[in-house]
Amino acid sequence: MKCELLSIGTELLTGATLNTNVNYLSTELSAIGVDVHYHTTIGDNPKRLRECLDIAVNRVDCVIITGGLGPTQDDLTKETVASFFNMPLKRDDQQVKKLKKRFENSGYPLTENNFRQCDIPVGAAILDNSCGTAPGIHIEKNNVDVFMLPGVPREMKAMFTESVLPVLKSKSNQIVTSRYYNICDMGESQIENQLLDLIKQQTNPTIATYAGVEEVTVRITAGGTNAAEIKKLLDQTESVINERFGSRIFSRDRTTLSKTVGELLKAKGLSLSTAESCTGGQIAAALTAIPGISEVYETGFVTYSNNAKKTLLGVPSDILDTYGAVSHQTAEAMCQGLLERTGSDLAVSVTGIAGPGGGSEAKPVGLVYIGVADHQHKIIEKCRFNGDRHQIQRRSVNKAFAMLRNLIITHD
Ligand code: AMP
Ligand code: MG
Repeated sequence: MKCELLSIGTELLTGATLNTNVNYLSTELSAIGVDVHYHTTIGDNPKRLRECLDIAVNRVDCVIITGGLGPTQDDLTKETVASFFNMPLKRDDQQVKKLKKRFENSGYPLTENNFRQCDIPVGAAILDNSCGTAPGIHIEKNNVDVFMLPGVPREMKAMFTESVLPVLKSKSNQIVTSRYYNICDMGESQIENQLLDLIKQQTNPTIATYAGVEEVTVRITAGGTNAAEIKKLLDQTESVINERFGSRIFSRDRTTLSKTVGELLKAKGLSLSTAESCTGGQIAAALTAIPGISEVYETGFVTYSNNAKKTLLGVPSDILDTYGAVSHQTAEAMCQGLLERTGSDLAVSVTGIAGPGGGSEAKPVGLVYIGVADHQHKIIEKCRFNGDRHQIQRRSVNKAFAMLRNLIITHD
């Protein structure tokens, strides 16, 4: 099934609002094997909507329109689409009742323009709006399905899952199954490079990589009419992925890296403290975003100055004087100090140059030392990250979590 997404709203064209609906819908549709061939965005303009609708119904099997269903003057989607299909609008009693009830409960006055939302093209199906007032509409004409959904992302998503997905699924005997592999300690291009042979010849399953904030996700999707056959296809590709990425695959259910580390800490009952310089508390922030992390996360220091490293962590002056703050020795001493002062089972330290200034030939921007330690082992890695300040910080955080994960896995 081929699909086109029509996004309606002048605010999308001026850049005032980011078009997140296409991102959501495309992801959901791809996952059920619907091929999204076009994204079209139009302002609140009935003439151009008509023109684009005319093109869309002649090139795809399914058109999903979002936006312009509300009660205000610029919301013209329903009127325009109904007139395009020569369908008169009729006020729906059920919808009027629902609207009145909703407004009674909310305490807001119900103005005349609100009733426009209850006008339904004769012959169309109504899609219930479980989160708002404007109902959606489904029109089936000449073997093309046209869905009109609200623009508000929350309402659109609810209506899509509750009312559109079942219709699309019922029209197809295709089963589409995806599996996900979250990989750490490797960049997206490196991962893609290792999968290039599979990506180049992909048909079924298809393979895609996505770079997230903390990790890269590899997705494989297979389709067909026979579940056992799909499983076999996925198993074959999965064994290649396992072989190539091994222990770098840290989750198969899309759990993020920091959350995976949090879960490992809890499962092993290990406490953790952090000492950060150039990441300025971003490791601590990622940890404290995990509900229930207080079970294992003890404390975090942001030791930006040499003085803070000395007084808060006990990094010896001669280490700072001899090797500098950005050095293997300082990262190691930060871990050592943390373990001694907090009594935590594990420690992580980061010290580096995030730039854009402050680099030198010997210590360029992007040089970061990351340490992880328990009471037996200290592992310090010298990293050279590319990118701007934000990317260097982000990569440092991710590397620290990847190193922590390794340490926890091997901890006995
Ligand atoms: P509408 O249904 O056109 O009245 O839109 C209602 C709200 O949803 C407005 O705040 C829009 O900016 C927002 N909205 C509409 N379309 C989109 C979209 N494609 N992505 C994100 N937000 C949207
Ligand atoms: Mg609008």
